[in-house]
Amino acid sequence: MNRLTDQGIWIESDVPLADTPQWSIPLRLVKAVADGEAANLGSVSPLLASNLETIRDIYAAWIDGSHQIPLAFELSPDVSAPSNGVSLFFSGGADSFYSLIKHRNEVKNLVLVHGFDVPLADTKTFELTETQARNAARLFGKRLIVVRTNLHWEQPSVPGGWGMYHGAALAAVAHALAPNHGKMYIASSYSYAELHSWGSHPLLDPLWSTEAVQIVHDGGETRMDKLRVLVQYPEVLARLRVCWENPDNYNCGLCEKCVRTMLGLRALGVDRCAAFPDTLTPELVRQQKLNHDSVLFWRELLCSSLPPALHAGVQSAIHSYDAGLPPRSGKLKREINRWRFALLHAMSALISPIDRF
Ligand SMILES: [Zn+2]
Repeated sequence: MNRLTDQGIWIESDVPLADTPQWSIPLRLVKAVADGEAANLGSVSPLLASNLETIRDIYAAWIDGSHQIPLAFELSPDVSAPSNGVSLFFSGGADSFYSLIKHRNEVKNLVLVHGFDVPLADTKTFELTETQARNAARLFGKRLIVVRTNLHWEQPSVPGGWGMYHGAALAAVAHALAPNHGKMYIASSYSYAELHSWGSHPLLDPLWSTEAVQIVHDGGETRMDKLRVLVQYPEVLARLRVCWENPDNYNCGLCEKCVRTMLGLRALGVDRCAAFPDTLTPELVRQQKLNHDSVLFWRELLCSSLPPALHAGVQSAIHSYDAGLPPRSGKLKREINRWRFALLHAMSALISPIDRF
């Protein structure tokens, strides 16, 4: 097992790892911006050095109240040539399967990280995830590279948390694996129409590139566009993994990610997908609690061809989010709470104009 360490952060894998400190620069830069402290980044490749100030400015704009801190670094005298090979971060979800299909003739390695979606301590869930990733790699004739890291759980205090930090973490892993590839794909999370401040972004990801490793944010297709491709590959649908809520049931079939994916598949005519339990009902849809990120995917579902009852469930879940209400539960106590929230909301709307005088 090979291992890189820097200031308490470690990355390990059984494949060769980088022999330069470039891998940890994204982590140090984002931490410095979040802390509002000047950073000495050490030896930096000329290409990455030319983008550091832009990266700092993007993060400074995204992180509320942060400053454009001074950056100190020296140009690395050794510019590594890129290794052969192209890799793709692979979780087994809709985004990474879509990018795998899209670049199946170019991608050689699938990179699965233990410590990002699945906590390091949860070895049971990761064993299942790794087994499925190996099956997917075998199906497409790719090599699976498994990485372990404490990057997620040792992340600095960044406004927006892991959502804002994970792009730098992905870049760090991409550079740590430099001997294995000259190009790394990161599957997009959001479509071009839904872009917002988010740690992996088409504006940001390519700026982390060095002469040795090009980092590519792959595509901005909508989630429905991606699912429309995946439904043409039943062997992929059977291996789809979108949630880690329950290691015994693969996809739990109850959480927001599972429900939104099942809805997307149903809208495309897939009534039953072997990767999910048969749990999709209008009531389950109405009960989903959305947030400012997930609601973007749900609004996309409104334009799809769902059966009327499920479509109404999607409308109800979005309405609850927009109104700041708890999702509809169908249970009396929760319904009373919904109406209490609505009443307080209406009263505050009546009172607030008077308060202005
Ligand atoms: Zn789930």
